[in-house]
Amino acid sequence: MVQLIDVFKAYENGTKALKGVNIKLEPGEFAFLVGPSGSGKSTIMKLITGEIAPTDGTVVVNGFNLVNIKMSKMPFLRRSLGVIFQDFRLIQKKTVYENVAFAMHAVGASPREIRKRVPYVLNLVGLDQKAKMRPFELSGGEQQRVAIARALVNNPSLIVADEPTGNLDPARSLEILMLLQKINELGTTVLVVTHEKALVDAFSQRVIAIDNGRIISDGMDGYYSYEE
Ligand code: ADP
Ligand code: ADP
Repeated sequence: MVQLIDVFKAYENGTKALKGVNIKLEPGEFAFLVGPSGSGKSTIMKLITGEIAPTDGTVVVNGFNLVNIKMSKMPFLRRSLGVIFQDFRLIQKKTVYENVAFAMHAVGASPREIRKRVPYVLNLVGLDQKAKMRPFELSGGEQQRVAIARALVNNPSLIVADEPTGNLDPARSLEILMLLQKINELGTTVLVVTHEKALVDAFSQRVIAIDNGRIISDGMDGYYSYEE
């Protein structure tokens, strides 16, 4: 599903962001990726989505080896992957329904498939009553649920969320993580990046901790505490 093997990443300016990272996420797993600011979390997310390439090592996502993936295969990787961001990234001019439908349209789904699938995912995230609203009419938590519906709509096998609760209050943050946990229980592999320890502690899930470009712990029993 996701496998990073001895991954190193140095940016153009010489910054060594990852120094030999190994992570294996099995199909159907849920994991948090935690660590202080600058530890390498976003770098790992960008490697998984294929946005950047490693300097050394192997990255395999949903059966695609991202180190030697052909450009023609990239759309298939993208389709097998749902991505959620801190700032939602919704289209403000489109309704909730259209934001989600657009993601299906973009991969060539038929109008019939779209009409069937979009109401299902909006119901799953609890937004079926808000389908005709536009993002600016919604709360932050609701906007993030639209983004989750959009990430889910093409039925990806993996969802990666980069600080999905960074713009939300604690109660809303908890709701979003419970929703991601529910989606995981329905069969999707989920990887959530966060630096909010209190939030992670509220869930009994696998926690992969990174510091200064190295994995410092990985397991079900909480994580090494660090100073921000
Ligand atoms: P995190 O997501 O945990 O905050 P990042 O993966 O963004 O960490 O960053 C890891 C390290 O790489 C930091 O030292 C950061 O300054 C550096 N870095 C991130 N992106 C770039 C870039 N495009 N160019 C140079 N250095 C970068
Ligand atoms: P088309 O029939 O043009 O292929 P759709 O049936 O997907 O497209 O949608 C047509 C319009 O109706 C869109 O603007 C969409 O916002 C709206 N719409 C369709 N279904 C719903 C729904 N369940 N809830 C809210 N709006 C919907």
